[in-house]
Order: sequence, then C-alpha cells, then structure tokens
Amino acid sequence: MASIPLKAHKLVFSLVLLLMSCSPLMQQDIQDRDSKAKKVLLISFDGFRADYLSAERTPYLYALAQKGAKSEGLIPVFPSKTFPNHYAIAVGLHPENNGLIGNSIYDSTLAQMYRIGDREQVERADWYEGEPIWNTAEKQGVRAGTMFWVGSEAPVQGMRPTHWKRYDGSVPDSARIDTVIQWLSMGTDLEVDLATLYFSFLDSQGHRYGTDAPETDAALLRVDGLMKYLMEELESAGLTNQTNVVLVSDHGMQNISRDRVITLDSYMDLEKVLMIGGSPVATMNIEAVYRAEVYNTLKNAQEEGAPFQVFLKEELPERLHNSKHPRTPDLTIIADLGYSLTTTQQLSSNPNYPSGGNHGYDPQHAEMHAVFVAIGPDFAPNSHLEAFESIHVYSLLVHLLGLNPAPNDGDLMTFEGILSE
Ligand code: AMP
Ligand code: ZN
Ligand code: ZN
Repeated sequence: MASIPLKAHKLVFSLVLLLMSCSPLMQQDIQDRDSKAKKVLLISFDGFRADYLSAERTPYLYALAQKGAKSEGLIPVFPSKTFPNHYAIAVGLHPENNGLIGNSIYDSTLAQMYRIGDREQVERADWYEGEPIWNTAEKQGVRAGTMFWVGSEAPVQGMRPTHWKRYDGSVPDSARIDTVIQWLSMGTDLEVDLATLYFSFLDSQGHRYGTDAPETDAALLRVDGLMKYLMEELESAGLTNQTNVVLVSDHGMQNISRDRVITLDSYMDLEKVLMIGGSPVATMNIEAVYRAEVYNTLKNAQEEGAPFQVFLKEELPERLHNSKHPRTPDLTIIADLGYSLTTTQQLSSNPNYPSGGNHGYDPQHAEMHAVFVAIGPDFAPNSHLEAFESIHVYSLLVHLLGLNPAPNDGDLMTFEGILSE
C-alpha cells in the first residue's frame, strides 16, 4: 500500500477489511508486498516525555524532527508503565485485548504472577496475546530483528523474529545501534526490513532525579548524541533513502515527593489482600468477604477528598481499556498526578522515599504523554499531528512495510497528515 495516494487509503483500507471478512483464503491473495515498501527502524527511549523534545534539551533531534513528522504527544495505554506500553505499540491492541495489562499481573488460570524482573514469565508466551509487528512481518516473508522489545523474548504465536536478543541492560548504546544497522544491511538472506531498538537510561534518570534535573538533561543529550550517531550510521550503510525511522517512547514522567503520599495501610489490612501492582496504581485481588469493606472505606475517603480514585473491576472507565480481560484485578487505586501510594512501614524505613519521578498515572495527564517523531522517505517534511493514542502505531508500521495487518485496535487514518503522497 506504500505507493497508494493517501486520499485513496480509506477506501482501500475498507476494501481490504471487507475482503478479509469474506474468506480467510482470500487474505493471502489480497496483495503482494509493494515493491516500493521501505525498511523500518522503530526506536524507543523509555520515559521520553513529549515535552522533553526541545531545541534546548535535544537540539539534534529537534532539528531532525523538523525534517519529518512529529506529534504533540503519544498517549500511552493505562497504566502508563513500560511493559503494557511497549507491548501495546507492538500489537496495536489495548491492554484488555492483548493480555499485558500491567507491569505486574496475576493470572488465576495460570495461577501465576507476572513481574518484569521474572525472566521465566517474561519469556513465557501465554502472557502475550495479539500479533506483534515482527510476527506480522515474518508471516509475510519480511524479516525482523529486535534489539530488545517487550514481548520479543517470548515465542508469541509459537514464533520469533529472525534476530532477537534477550534483554540485557548492560549492552553499550553504540553496540545496540551497530547490531541493528548490520541486520538492516547484511546483504544476505537474513537481512531484515524491520528492526527495533530500545534504551532505558532516560527512564532511570527520570526516576532517580526527576524531570528537570541536570542528570536528566545529560540523559537527554545522550539520547541526542545517539540519534546523531544512528542517522550517520544509516547514511554510511546507504540506508537513509530506504529507511523510515519511527521514534517513540512508552510514557512520560512526573516529579514525586514525600509531601504527596497515600499510605494504603490506613485503609485496609494489607495482610488480607493480594497486592499485585504498587505505585502510582495499586492493583489487588481481595476475597469477596473483605472486598466491599475495603472498597467502601476507600470510596468514602475519595469522596472526602483523598488524592486518589478507586475502582472495582467492573467500574474502571471504559476509556482506560483495561477492564475486560480476565486478568483485570478486583480493585484498582489510581493516585492523583504526583502522589505516591505507599505504606507506613515503607515510609519509615526509607527516609528519602519517595523522590525523583514516576509514571503509571492516568494517560490523560499530559505529563504521561510520550514522544513521537518519524523521519524518512514516507513522511512529509515539517508535518505535525495532535497527540494520538499509541495503539495506532502498529497500523503505521504495517503500512510502511507494505504488509497486511492482523486484527488490531488502531487506525491508519491517524497518520493521514504526516504521510507523504
Ligand atoms: P518501569 O519504569 O518500572 O515501568 O520499567 C522500566 C524498566 O524496564 C527499565 O529500567 C528496564 O530495565 C526494564 N525493561 C525494559 N525492557 C525489558 C525487558 N525486555 N526485559 C526486562 N526488563 C526490561
Ligand atoms: Zn518505561
Ligand atoms: Zn520507568
């Protein structure tokens, strides 16, 4: 579809959907991959808040963005945490439709807890539903390589990208870039058309020092230098004219402090609940006999002005798209922006807690919005979009790669204003 004029997209898109619904056999016949389709490099800098992008803090990237497309912000899925957001970007599905509903999840059928530091669970396919972009590519004969991406370490749908790496935060920045440039330009049968890159250091500094600290400025300059290095390496490999670079992040960052805390043990006996996720979104399962009591206590406090919102599973606002999965926990408490959920014990044993920054809050806060910049032959120079939801990115990647999408929650029309004709 890469060469079809934009205005015809809606029609073609509807036609394709219509054909797909007619007969599964027809799906294979719809179209061969467009010979003009480009390579795609998807990059995530964890915790890159939308407004970090500026002439002062990221001068190279800011200038680069003028040559392509950028958005006011990329609206994360709820909760605005790392794992649900990277996976939602990869599959184009809201958390309630892809299973990865948090950084910490309990599944009663598996009788298992998922935590981001638990390698066995992170690499277990049962947690991940939907079709990640690397599978969409590989299934249609397009090779993919993932230099880290949430979900890429598990055999989702029983398959993996041609090249993939187990997450290792100690791999140097430039080695990550060199590896994907090599995958994109190997000149053999194993060369990829889709590659992903991921860096966590900006998120780490945002957590440690907050959004405005000199250390966070330094991390942003490191991002800036890496983007310069990457663009130069793409050029040396002769890839610039055939590669679309899509830079995203998973969420933003918000400063937190010890003046803004909510002690959960003031509202419930923590021994009697199964605590799943922590702060600023506490999720828990509670035995039916105790549930109403905890809920009523929290709800009364909320109505009297306590800085949080509490929801039973069935009450979670539909716009958060996190309530329809069997893994959705019994109770969710969402702290107001800047507040931390904690316990009396945690406060007394950590005199400096909380400090720095955190994320996870309601995605409607602009402080939670992530960055989106796209540069390359398929993007109109100096083009611009309002903030949009990150579940649409899958549709964009599929389009750039000239592939047929798997069922997803996104809409390619989101990008009408930034794709070149
Ligand atoms: P958080 O700030 O708690 O939402 O999570 C951010 C952390 O996730 C980063 O510091 C990374 O170290 C970690 N992370 C990112 N990708 C992976 C992965 N594929 N496997 C394990 N940990 C990861
Ligand atoms: Zn993150
Ligand atoms: Zn983080």
